[in-house]
Amino acid sequence: MTTLFDRYEVQRRKLLMDRSAPGRVGTTLPPNDVPEAEMPPSDMLRQDLDLPEVSESEIVRYFSQLSQLNFSIDHNFYPLGSCTMKYNPKLNDEMASIPGFTEIHPLQPDHTVQGALKLLFELQTYLAEITGMAGTSLTPMAGADGELAGMLMARAFHTANGDLQRKNVLIPDSAHGTNPATAVMAGFQVVSLPSDANGDTDLDALRSSVGDDLAGLMITLPSTLGLFDSNIVEVVKIVHDAGGIVYGDGANLNALLGRVKMGDLGFDVMHSNLHKTFTQPHGGGGPGTGPIMVGERMQPFLPTPQVVRRHDSDGNETFALETPEKTIGRMGAFHGNFGALLRAYAYISTLGDVGIAQVSDDAVINANYIMSELKGYYDLPYDRTCMHEVVFSARNLKRDYGVSALDVAKRLIDYGIHPPTMYFPLIVDEALMIEPTETESKETLDYFIEVMRTIAQEAKDSPELLHDAPHDTPNTRVDEARAARRPYLSWRRED
Ligand SMILES: *Cc1c(COP(=O)(O)O)cnc(C)c1O
Repeated sequence: MTTLFDRYEVQRRKLLMDRSAPGRVGTTLPPNDVPEAEMPPSDMLRQDLDLPEVSESEIVRYFSQLSQLNFSIDHNFYPLGSCTMKYNPKLNDEMASIPGFTEIHPLQPDHTVQGALKLLFELQTYLAEITGMAGTSLTPMAGADGELAGMLMARAFHTANGDLQRKNVLIPDSAHGTNPATAVMAGFQVVSLPSDANGDTDLDALRSSVGDDLAGLMITLPSTLGLFDSNIVEVVKIVHDAGGIVYGDGANLNALLGRVKMGDLGFDVMHSNLHKTFTQPHGGGGPGTGPIMVGERMQPFLPTPQVVRRHDSDGNETFALETPEKTIGRMGAFHGNFGALLRAYAYISTLGDVGIAQVSDDAVINANYIMSELKGYYDLPYDRTCMHEVVFSARNLKRDYGVSALDVAKRLIDYGIHPPTMYFPLIVDEALMIEPTETESKETLDYFIEVMRTIAQEAKDSPELLHDAPHDTPNTRVDEARAARRPYLSWRRED
């Protein structure tokens, strides 16, 4: 028997076309105040075009209900490792919506946009200060775009020195997939570097991989295992002694802010994701930004434009755009993703130096709290203090009860939590990469821990419950390969 609740569910999940009723209209057009024009010839008009005919209230409900099916950080806990789904203060959005910023154009003369240029200049300075570097380019549009800029600069650097034989870029086997991809796009050959039993860079393997053909090393710090590489000082030295450039993937700087500067460690180029560490909202393909920060010897190669400060004859500050001497060129049409840069500026200014250091305090303690509370329930491949994220393995559940990391992740959805990153880094079997971020309360972390323990127990008692999860969503387990390869992007009439 269908209950009222069933009928509610059916109603709620109806597609817009299925809510259509012939002749129903949701709009009232104002009287025509322009001359009537001829319609195009009838053979150019589509007679059979299906359009939904719905009332205004129906369409408002449809889109509101649809929006509630989205999961976001504003709904609940989102521990997606390496993606840093921290809460983004609404103040930053407000700052980015000030008309004085939204209504300017990148081609306006410099003297009419001095405030915007000053802000970009100060953000360049903040990011260089936070990372211990000499210069910044705000123009790359994403983390991967920053990597590409950095690797093109490495190539320009070696070319300027006449070192054309330097073709190899070393990349640890725990690296984010964008690292090898951008190295290849910049014309290099990738050589994979193993991790040692502790999850650090294997120094012997590194020593035997460097030579005259070394262009550089790309390394993520903390690594994607959520670990601070205890060999990092030695790693940088070996690469520098061999004439290579050290590139730092600082997509996730939450663990280091206010404590460790990549510049002090000797890194030559790095990027950071403003849409992770510096709270630009992201996910769903939204706008990102991946500025690069560089040491002195790389500065002449920075992308154009740079924002520079000058002083006029009366000693007043002015700001202008400049092209670095040996620039690799442009990474985008204008000066970067200005809205995202504004949010990062607001975020950094709100926190100040004390707040910035508290970010890393809280991010690291939160991840270690989860690690210590879930140890014993899930396998922990690298059992040592972690940084801002912790990588567990569900291989114990797989071995004992046939329950995979995917099953655990899908079951979390039933408890209102977004799944963590799964099956990454690739060197951990059945990986569950959990990043709580610094913005979560202890109560939220405790709830998550309780849920994860419950799921481990469910794996033992009723594994089929996990194989079929999620149960509490409009669609249960979907065939993800088919959904990605054969997506239905529009409504289709059922024949
Ligand atoms: C997210 C991420 C990237 C890539 O950043 P995009 O903005 O998605 O291009 C690179 N490295 C690491 C470690 C990341 O987490």
